Amino acid sequence: MAQVQRMSRLMIKTLRDDPADAETASHKLLVRAGYVRRTAAGIWTWLPLGKKVLENVSRVIREEMDAIGAQEVLLPALLPKEPYEATGRWEEYGDQLFRLQDRKGADYLLGPTHEEIFTLMVKDQCTSYKDLPVMLYQIQTKYRDEARPRSGVLRGREFQMKDSYSFDTTDEGLEESYRLHREAYQKIFQRLGLDYRIVSAVSGAMGGSASEEFLAPAAAGEDTFVDCPACDYAANTEAVTVTVPAVDGSGHGPVEELDTPDTPTIETLAEHLGVPASATLKNLLVKVDGEIVAVGVPGDREVDLGKLGEHLAPATVELVTAEDFTGRDDLVRGYVGPQGLAGKSFKYLADPRVAPGTAWITGANKDGKHARNVVAGRDFEVDQYLDVVVVEPGDPCPSCGAGLRIDRAIEIGHIFQLGRKYADAFQLDVLGQNGKPARVTMGSYGIGVSRAVAALAEQTFDESGLCWPREIAPADVHVVAAGKAKQTELALEVGDKLGAAGLRVLVDDRAGVSPGVKFTDAELLGIPKILVAGRRAAEGVVELKDRRTGEREELTVEEAVARLS
Ligand code: ATP
Ligand code: MG
Ligand code: MG
Ligand code: MG
Repeated sequence: MAQVQRMSRLMIKTLRDDPADAETASHKLLVRAGYVRRTAAGIWTWLPLGKKVLENVSRVIREEMDAIGAQEVLLPALLPKEPYEATGRWEEYGDQLFRLQDRKGADYLLGPTHEEIFTLMVKDQCTSYKDLPVMLYQIQTKYRDEARPRSGVLRGREFQMKDSYSFDTTDEGLEESYRLHREAYQKIFQRLGLDYRIVSAVSGAMGGSASEEFLAPAAAGEDTFVDCPACDYAANTEAVTVTVPAVDGSGHGPVEELDTPDTPTIETLAEHLGVPASATLKNLLVKVDGEIVAVGVPGDREVDLGKLGEHLAPATVELVTAEDFTGRDDLVRGYVGPQGLAGKSFKYLADPRVAPGTAWITGANKDGKHARNVVAGRDFEVDQYLDVVVVEPGDPCPSCGAGLRIDRAIEIGHIFQLGRKYADAFQLDVLGQNGKPARVTMGSYGIGVSRAVAALAEQTFDESGLCWPREIAPADVHVVAAGKAKQTELALEVGDKLGAAGLRVLVDDRAGVSPGVKFTDAELLGIPKILVAGRRAAEGVVELKDRRTGEREELTVEEAVARLS
């Protein structure tokens, strides 16, 4: 028998006003509807109804992970430093990592993701090729000291993640494990009722090769992605490669080739540009033999001609004079492809959130490692970058040629073919079929469980409040007793009948709360069906309202129960 929850006994306090610091709809509504409560910056308490939604999301994920044969485990969040030192991530994670010490002064961390610990577990548990392939997952609390923990549970410093890891002996095996996860993710997000796209992504700090992100389009999203309305092409801005003609006024200025038979000197360059040899220049990109040696960015970094000397031995110097970026608020999207990562392009944008003209780059830093929202000149050498390509909405889709769109999205999942990076770090071998040790190859696969709750709220809310899809709503039906004793009696009776029919029911039986307040709360809470015992309660007639469409109809109690079950 499913649960009947009386609101009079539920710990819930709804709020009429948005929390002062809230910017996104999910943040505002989840707080106002009493689903979550802020404990500290980026640290959230899940209240009774919120916990139910979180559990529903977890249940769907668990069912689909189990269905592909992944086994659930639970690893600690408090972890020793050494494994993370072995892979370099103790350092690499930088300020994102929560580090702490025990009473003896030994270093620990709160796990941001668990590749190291899973690798060590499998090294201990699996010794023969017969023990593989194996896929393992957990739904667990993760810690990342995010720089800007805004947006409520969308970006927490403590959050719930489903992370899984696959272990195979062959590359084909890894591809199969990856495919299984990809399909499971498609089922999960579909069941959750999330609108999503799969985009190829750079692997970043995880290392490894193939990687795809699952993005849920939403205005509150912090990711920018490119998608095609005509075909299924979609790409993270980090991975998209779109070539825009250089001379079209869309961010590139004229490309000039300084075809000097002799080795160019600073003087020839300066003369060509009509500036003194000691000049520093903005809005200039210098390529020597096709390789960028300098990029000028106003207000951040300028090309110092005097320092170009060392690059000037080769014969062909290309100067790309970019338009002045300063004040170009329209120049919000551009891409910089890093040298040595041919074919990949990186987002280079004067983001509206940062001062105009400040370079805002998402992509690889100078060591080729992933870094997000970094600032040019501070976090990497701008000179490392090859090409600036500005992609504007309407640019041709690389796949079908239709006009591209540029949208915002929330990263809800990320899957990686890690390869042997972690196995190499810990010498993870199993005894192969031929009697020799075989190095294991791995995949890692994450879903933001708590973030998915916020993403769902973002994609489904309306002006009255939250509006959950049934599978993850905290209840199937919200019964409102709109009146006095008679209405409350009928509401409880209907609630029991619905409960007996296997439905999850919330009955608003609160005494001394006006029908108006109850209706407003019902809309805010967002349970998909609202059943009102009101005016015609004495006749045993209730009103059924669909939360999303607002459609209403009057039904007898029996009809209502039959309709809903
Ligand atoms: P983001 O780009 O948003 O910072 P990420 O790429 O750092 O996310 P991953 O390391 O790929 O995140 O982790 C797997 C999943 O965990 C992400 O796809 C996302 O859904 C979720 N996630 C990551 N960071 C957070 C966070 N701070 N709060 C909530 N969920 C998160
Ligand atoms: Mg991150
Ligand atoms: Mg990401
Ligand atoms: Mg990611």
